[in-house]
Amino acid sequence: MIMIEGETRQCKKCGEVKEAYGFGITGNSHRHVCKKCVLARYNERYATDPVFKASIDLAQKEKRARHRGTYAKRNKEYREANKEQHSANRSIKYRERKAAGIVPRYKRVRTEQPGKQAANDTIKHAIKNGTIIRPNKCEQCDKEGHTEAHHHSYLKEDRFDIKWLCIQCHRDYHADHFMHVVLVDVDKIIAPYLVDEYHTKIFTEAVYNFPTLTMPPGLNNTKFAIYEKVFNFMTNLNGNWVYCKYGLLLRDVYGITTIRYVPRLVATPPKERNKNGSKPN
Ligand SMILES: [Zn+2]
Ligand SMILES: [Zn+2]
Ligand SMILES: [Zn+2]
Repeated sequence: MIMIEGETRQCKKCGEVKEAYGFGITGNSHRHVCKKCVLARYNERYATDPVFKASIDLAQKEKRARHRGTYAKRNKEYREANKEQHSANRSIKYRERKAAGIVPRYKRVRTEQPGKQAANDTIKHAIKNGTIIRPNKCEQCDKEGHTEAHHHSYLKEDRFDIKWLCIQCHRDYHADHFMHVVLVDVDKIIAPYLVDEYHTKIFTEAVYNFPTLTMPPGLNNTKFAIYEKVFNFMTNLNGNWVYCKYGLLLRDVYGITTIRYVPRLVATPPKERNKNGSKPN
């Protein structure tokens, strides 16, 4: 039933009594579950149901493709027309996030993915200096246009080891390949070994043999012990690692840079609707 102005309704889910604007409209009547509860349910499903998430992501991707540029233009016009309001909103949002203890993405990356920031900065500076020229062609699909530098390792020695991909190829790759940095607790893994060139080499060698986890023949006692430690450690990480390399990430920081492969779910496209809202046959 459609609610009239001033009328209130109790949400069937949370029990709160709200006016009409608190409830969404479906068909030609107001819902009995409030907007807040509907959104909470949606968010929960999105976070826990991979098939649902895939279908939403696909629908949004298609929507973005249809409206490419129009949102950006409209948002920019709005921002310019409402400059003061916009900056006030932003600072409110900033304070709220800070009070809630939400760490900004760029800060999170620095602690969770050591070496990532440095790897990206290296390329950024090299482009600025003219040491590297950003190509105008994707190395994967040959499409011409803007390219992004893709790292497959965040180790210091691999900072220039990049592949130039178009935005789409880069996104496609990371949709099922996740970059992780595993910080190696020096006391637990390295000790009693030293982080010197010799031991680092053995450690790297062992990591490279993953995921087979087979002991190569002819190891001496030191090598065997290190291999064993590394394999135990990798087993505990429990992932579908397709690339692992151990080494120096930042000054004094050693760790494993990894790529974890998680097969993508095939998205079921959302049901199409006709203009009048009815489902097609
Ligand atoms: Zn509710
Ligand atoms: Zn491409
Ligand atoms: Zn990448």
